[in-house]
Parts: sequence; structure tokens; C-alpha cells
Amino acid sequence: MLSLLNVEVLYADVILALKGVSMQVAPGGCVALLGANGAGKSTTLKAISGVIDSDDGRVSGGSIAFGGRAIRGHDTASIVRSGLVHVMEGRRVLPHMTVEQNLIIGGHMFGSTAQMRLALDGVYQAIPRLADLRTRTAGYLSGGEQQMLVIGRAIMAEPKLMLIDEPSLGLAPRMTEEVFAVLHRLRAQGLALLIVEQNTRVALEIADYGYVMESGRIVLEGRADELRANEDVREFYLGLD
Ligand code: ATP
Repeated sequence: MLSLLNVEVLYADVILALKGVSMQVAPGGCVALLGANGAGKSTTLKAISGVIDSDDGRVSGGSIAFGGRAIRGHDTASIVRSGLVHVMEGRRVLPHMTVEQNLIIGGHMFGSTAQMRLALDGVYQAIPRLADLRTRTAGYLSGGEQQMLVIGRAIMAEPKLMLIDEPSLGLAPRMTEEVFAVLHRLRAQGLALLIVEQNTRVALEIADYGYVMESGRIVLEGRADELRANEDVREFYLGLD
């Protein structure tokens, strides 16, 4: 479904942040992208979704295909229309708007209110917590609730694949569990996921395959259960005891 081959990214025309990254995500699959700070995980997601352009970066080598179609260099809006959404790090909700207004922004492409209503109902079904919060002002939600809101806003676009960057960042363990319960539910509905996560344990619980990055390269990959079991991997790359 998603395929990267030898992808290179340059920032400001001088910093080579990705040095030939190759990876795959199967339809309905769930892949974890792991590694230390600065390894290039966020850059990989930005290269795929096309937002790298607005970061003074560019994909300077390799190929990126989604659903059998080359998407390297395409603009983000057309990539979203093709079924690929990117939930960026930092939970950028529109703080003065309600939860439902934030969701409606994610569904701006719908031609009719009936279509919009259907998509909203789909989101509320997948993330019931958002239904309870629909009239609340987004800026006052907790971190975990805001994370659910940005996930909900992204699924308004009815994607086939979601790239999601650090969904557990700054969340208490209970909230992390709740956010991952949402991701598990979306997965069960057939959504494919590519997750960047510092919390290796939760990432490898949901993922079926994992890649570990270091200094702009993939240094290790394997089935999630194998990565979890591999002692060296646990200690050196994943920080698990
Ligand atoms: P983190 O978890 O800290 O976000 P990461 O693995 O996602 O880490 P990236 O954010 O992708 O890493 O960064 C990879 C490298 O690219 C780092 O060396 C970083 O300093 C550099 N970099 C990231 N964004 C830019 C930018 N806009 N301009 C220049 N260099 C950048």
C-alpha cells in the first residue's frame, strides 16, 4: 500500500536528514517507526505526506508510492484525497472552536451536509469520547482528549492510511492507553497505520512490524513480536529492560 525506496531528505539544501530509507506498509497493516530523538522519524512521515516542503526540506532522492501510484513531490491536499492522512506531533487543534467545529474542518471536502453528518457520526462511533465532548471548546480539553480530536479530524477525510507522530507524547499512562485503544479500534476497522512513537512498548503492542532508525537510516527491522523478544534490540535500541 505504501512503499518507500531509498528516500533521501535534505533540509535547507545542506542537511541530509534521511540517507536512503526503504520501508513498506501493507493494506490494513500497522507499522511502528522507532528510534532515538533526531533519528529522522518525523522527517520520514513529513516526506511521505508532502509537508516537508513547508519545513524548508525536500525529498532529494528515492521513490514514494501509495496505492501503486508515485506520490513523491505531490502536494499534501492531493495526497490526502488519495487516502493518506498525517497526524502531526503537537496536537494542533483550533483552540477557540468546539470539538465538532474542529472535526468539520477535517471534512471540508464534503459537498453536502448529509455527507458531513455521516462522516461525523462515523467519527463519534469510532471515538465515543468525542461525542460526549462535541460542544466543548477544544482548547480546554486535556492532552489525551486533544489527541483523540486530531485523530478524529484526520479520519473525517476517510483515509486508508494514517501516519501518526508521537501520539503518547506528554500523556499520563492511562490516557496513553485510551488513545491507543482508539487506534486499535480504527485498525480493526481496516485503517492502516504508520506510528512514530517513543513509547516502544505500546507501539510494539499494536504494530505487526517495526523499523528502527538511527541517524537517518533504518538500522533494524522485523516483526513486532521478534523485535520485542530480541534482547539486544530491547537494550540498545528500544530502551526496554
Ligand atoms: P524527534 O523524536 O526528536 O522528533 P525524529 O527521529 O523525529 O526525532 P527528525 O525530527 O526527523 O527526528 O529530525 C531528523 C534530523 O533532521 C535531526 O538531525 C534534526 O535536527 C534535523 N531537522 C529536522 N527538521 C529540520 C528542519 N526544519 N531544518 C533543519 N534540520 C532539521
